[in-house]
Amino acid sequence: MVDPDKIKSGLSKVNQRIYKALEKAGRRDDEVTLVGVTKTFPPEYLTIAIECGLTEIGENRVQEFEAKKPKVKGRARWHLIGHLQSNKVKKAIELFDIIQSVDSYKLAKEISKRADGDFEILIQVNSSGEESKFGLEMDGAEEEILKIAELGNIRIMGLMTIGRFVEDETLIRKSFAPVKEMFEELKKYESDRFKMVHLSMGMSSDFELAIEEGANMVRIGSLIFGSRG
Ligand SMILES: *Cc1c(COP(=O)(O)O)cnc(C)c1O
Repeated sequence: MVDPDKIKSGLSKVNQRIYKALEKAGRRDDEVTLVGVTKTFPPEYLTIAIECGLTEIGENRVQEFEAKKPKVKGRARWHLIGHLQSNKVKKAIELFDIIQSVDSYKLAKEISKRADGDFEILIQVNSSGEESKFGLEMDGAEEEILKIAELGNIRIMGLMTIGRFVEDETLIRKSFAPVKEMFEELKKYESDRFKMVHLSMGMSSDFELAIEEGANMVRIGSLIFGSRG
């Protein structure tokens, strides 16, 4: 059995660190949306986190969340943050409120085809250049995003990236800063269905750096829920 107090204190520690990072960045009045990442953890973790006031929950696999969701008590905004295959788009749209991991025009088109109403998405970019990572290549990403913006039934709400997995802080920052720049740049094209609202960058190991580089949404798992073993 999980100890609810552990999740509660995990959440409050993370919230304090987010606040400190905002202060350090001179962004005291800004808000950062915390997405608690519950992948690999059982449904009761999600229930407890929601009871503790967490309103945004991220999962990275459609099938895993499909099995868990009916067992969760309470409601959050459900974020898909992992790579999505075209053949699972229909399910993903049913299960999630927002897909953060749209990493190709092809996938966006499939979502556009399956969704009814304006389904919210973020565009994932690969800003670290690491081949193992999904996301649009930074070179040419803007054009691709503007092409996606022409599709019906979807609303682009911002950008998502995963920081570089290295120790060197300078290198980690360099994988966030260009995404912030692109986020600002894309604001000139805003319309009803294209808004740069969420800049989703930062995980347990690097969210403070991400906030200092301009993130307004962070995705945090292990620091709240414990290690995934
Ligand atoms: C697992 C995951 C996270 C959270 O990772 P932690 O290191 O546990 O905070 C964030 N974003 C994505 C895309 C993930 O897959």
